[in-house]
Order: sequence, then structure tokens, then C-alpha cells
Amino acid sequence: MSQQNPVFIPGPTNIPDRLRLAMQVQTQDHRAPDFVETFAPVLEDTKKVFGTDQGQVITFPASGTGGWEAAVTNTLSPGDAVLVARYGMFSHRWIDLCQRHGLDVRIIECPWGSGAPAQKFAEALAADNSHEIKAVLVTHNETATGVRSDIAAVRKAMDASTHPALLFVDCVSSLASMPFEFDDWGVDIAVSGSQKGFMLATGMAILCVSPKALAAMETANLPRTFFDFRDMMNANASGGFPYTPPLQLIYGMRESLKMLFEEGLDNVYARHFRLAEGVRKATSAWGLELVAQSPDLYSDTVSAIFVPDGFDSNALTDHAFNAYGVSFGIGLGEMNGKAFRIGHLGSLTDVMVLSGLATIEMAMADLDYPIELGSGVAAAQAYFRVGHATPMQSAA
Ligand SMILES: *Cc1c(COP(=O)(O)O)cnc(C)c1O
Repeated sequence: MSQQNPVFIPGPTNIPDRLRLAMQVQTQDHRAPDFVETFAPVLEDTKKVFGTDQGQVITFPASGTGGWEAAVTNTLSPGDAVLVARYGMFSHRWIDLCQRHGLDVRIIECPWGSGAPAQKFAEALAADNSHEIKAVLVTHNETATGVRSDIAAVRKAMDASTHPALLFVDCVSSLASMPFEFDDWGVDIAVSGSQKGFMLATGMAILCVSPKALAAMETANLPRTFFDFRDMMNANASGGFPYTPPLQLIYGMRESLKMLFEEGLDNVYARHFRLAEGVRKATSAWGLELVAQSPDLYSDTVSAIFVPDGFDSNALTDHAFNAYGVSFGIGLGEMNGKAFRIGHLGSLTDVMVLSGLATIEMAMADLDYPIELGSGVAAAQAYFRVGHATPMQSAA
């Protein structure tokens, strides 16, 4: 595949040259004083992206899955109940992880394409008089279906039932791309990673933890060693790391935060909305349907799009890769063969998104899809022309 083409998978995302260069550093002694000066501000600045003053940012050398494991093992004990809704591949995987840790996982099955069922959470919590449920787990942006859930509504439902459960949120494919309000939404642990909105290489799990979750840690006794918050926080308190840190990623993170703040977080979110809208305009011009069931659920970082009956989405993504050297997201789990995904997060501009739309349109035309070649691109062009690209977009 051509190294020049961007990827349109919803993570890992395109790494801007500025961040690739920032990660090109020579080995440095992580026990020397200058490591402290590099790392401490990164933890502090990441709080702004989570939207927190109260929370503590904790990182591990891991992918997002390691972040899920850290959240669960630091705060829960074997047999504890957790409440979680399954509406896509990522919520499913978090459920699987909890089951393998011996938790009592209470699952609300939801149609794929729907979001977190705040009302059903409220009912389940209200019925749990003895407070067996210790945590509610929510995937903010279900990357398999392109659905963004309303975390504030989940928090409201929890408060309405005055239930003390913790609220854990997977924001791996939303943080640094869509608004996130750790404090205002009353989140207890948020889990993210380096390879999506932060536009970096994979390898750093990035968490934010509330004082309430830290208190739960004192009595929680699921086994944990590598992911123990206490070891990490103790070492971080004096600017260090309990084992060898992913130095290159820490340098990358420092530069990524600089880029995000230079553009301005609100502009970052506005850009993602705009790119997503361009993709949505194209989708309707093709006469295709999104997996997300209603506009309030539309994700600004990934769109999952049903192929017409009788077509195989895997054949489409394979053809786009083989013929044009461009990767799109395949349909995961229940969506396999039925839907493809366009990732539109991270280092992307209007112009890059137009190239992705043009590519998938060629691939669909090659495979005799009932679409008009150029229709999706034209719809996105019409939308993008309305406003001019921001200075950051033309520079990125
Ligand atoms: C990418 C992603 C993850 C993390 O997966 P890793 O491959 O372990 O980094 C978790 N949740 C969601 C919603 C994701 O999109």
C-alpha cells in the first residue's frame, strides 16, 4: 500500500510528521532529573483534555485494552457486580474482560446501532437495593457502530436512583476528538489510548481517575501488579515511573498536547464534526444508511455504513485496499460483511476526507454498487465549500 495515502480506519490514526519527529528521541535515563521535567507537565496538561480538575491522570505502557484492565482490577474484587450494556464490539470486549476477571457481569443487551440505555441503567440500579452493583461501564463512542452515547444522561440516571456505583467510561475513540467532561459528567474512571485522537503510535493507555475511584482502590482486591495505580502514582509523585517508561510516546504526547492546544480543543471538536458531516452528506447522497440509529447518536470520529442487500462489505474494503491502496474499517462482529466504516478522526482535513470518499466511491462503482460515481464527493464538497478551512486545517 502507498505510504502517501492516509488511512480511514478509526484507529490507529494517521501520525502527523510533527509527531513522528517528536517521537524520534534517543534513549534517556528515566531516573535522571530531566525526565521529571518532561513527564510531569504531560500528566498535568492531559487533564485539560479530559475536562478535569479533580481527576488524576495515570498512564501505562499498553493499548486501550490494558486501560480497561487497569480500571477494573484497581477498583473491584472477585464476584463484584458490574452493570454494562452491549451494543457493539468494544462494549462486548470490555464485558468479556470483566467476565474473565471473575466479576458478576449484568448485561443489558441492546441493538447494535443504539447507544447506552440510560433509562434501563436507572431501572437496574433502582432494583439493586443492596448495592451489589459496584460499577456501571459505558463505551462513550462505540467504534464498531459509529455511535456516541450520552454520558451525562447516564450520570443523571445514576444520580436519580441515588446508587453509589462508580461510573467507568471507555473514551478511547472519542477523547481529544469529541467533547469530554470528566468532572461535569461525574465520571470515576475514563480510559483512553495514544493511537486515536492523540494521533500517536500505539502503546500508551491513558486514564483519568476520580477521588472516589481512588478510595475504592483501598479495599479492592482483584490481583494487579503491572497495572497497579498505587505503584504508578507513588512513582509519578516524585516525577518517576515504577518501571521503564515509553519515553518516545511521552515525548509524542507532549507534542500532541501542544498541537491540540494550538488548534484549540473547541476547534478540534468543530473540525471533527465538520469532517463527520461531510461523510454523512456523502452517505445520504449514495442512498446508503448509517448503522447509528438516529442523529443524536452520530459519532464525529467514525461512521459505520450499511452496504446494500446482496453486497459484502468485506469485498468492498478488500477491493479499496487492493486496487487503490487505501484502508477503511471492516464491519466488526454482528456488522461483519454488512457494514464498512470510515474513520474520520485525528490528523485529517476536509481535503483528506474528500480523497477517502472519492476512493470508496470508486471501489463501490467497480463492484457495481447502485450509486452514482461522484455523488458522495459532490455532496461533501458542497458542504465543505460553505466554510473555509481553518488555518490549522490548511497547515496540518
Ligand atoms: C480502539 C478502541 C479500544 C482499544 O483497543 P486497543 O486495540 O486495545 O487499543 C477500546 N475501545 C474502543 C471504543 C476503541 O475504539
